[in-house]
Amino acid sequence: MPELPEVETIKTDLKGKITGKKITGIEIIGRGSVKSDPEAFEKVLKGNSFKDIGRLGKIVVFSLEKGSFLLIHLKMTGQLIYEVAGKTIAGGHPEPKVGRLPNSFTRAYFTFEDGSKLFFNDIRRFGYLKITDEEEFRKIEGGYGIDALSPELNEKKLKEIFDKRKKAVKAVLMEQELIAGIGNIYADEILFEAGVKPQRPAGSITDEEIKKIREATPKILRIAVENRGTTFRDYVDANGGTGRHKEFLKVYGREGEPCGKCKGKIKLTRVAGRSTRYCDICQK
Ligand SMILES: [Zn+2]
Repeated sequence: MPELPEVETIKTDLKGKITGKKITGIEIIGRGSVKSDPEAFEKVLKGNSFKDIGRLGKIVVFSLEKGSFLLIHLKMTGQLIYEVAGKTIAGGHPEPKVGRLPNSFTRAYFTFEDGSKLFFNDIRRFGYLKITDEEEFRKIEGGYGIDALSPELNEKKLKEIFDKRKKAVKAVLMEQELIAGIGNIYADEILFEAGVKPQRPAGSITDEEIKKIREATPKILRIAVENRGTTFRDYVDANGGTGRHKEFLKVYGREGEPCGKCKGKIKLTRVAGRSTRYCDICQK
């Protein structure tokens, strides 16, 4: 599933391409993927244009010129593909390869005044598109915790989040209502960087360790953003290329390989129902 760095990459890539263009057509193919009344959805979008593209946790947020917001959550297998003059710019899950559009995985697409198109493809249909007004958007936003890249995510705030929680620290890092943007990949990477075992109860994390997790969080996420996110399983960036980050990941997908710090073996386990990689020696 795309996490903060992948969504941030899509956002940045699409921003320069589609903002300000009038939406002249909307096709909804997979009704289940649109979490708004289809008629209202069309009515709000047609003739409108995207003023800006932002991010709420792992959601791409398109602010519309005439108020309202279009939210797109890619979830497990969503793709956003922009087609302009026969060229495609894709972000999201890398499989299947884009090919001809629309295809059997296209759930909805938008046509802009210049003939370019934005497709939402999703094999497994967990992703969605949703229109909200300002009030509903603020409500949804209110359900999210502090953004993982926010400068306000300081040691004090992190201590408050971890305090007395019995849940594994990895699970807490991935809980969107507490901290928004981190998923399975980057939770493992952050905890490896910080030297903290993912299965430790959040409430047992010491002040010194909180400091390390606080430092590791923006560091790991920024490196990922610079590398345009990870490639494997889920993600191709919005310029059609795969992200480069996989090779820089230190534990994710590296079970059985030697740890880059101690040469011990990276272990694979399950924490909070998710596959989890860590070094038993470096992480305490
Ligand atoms: Zn190690």
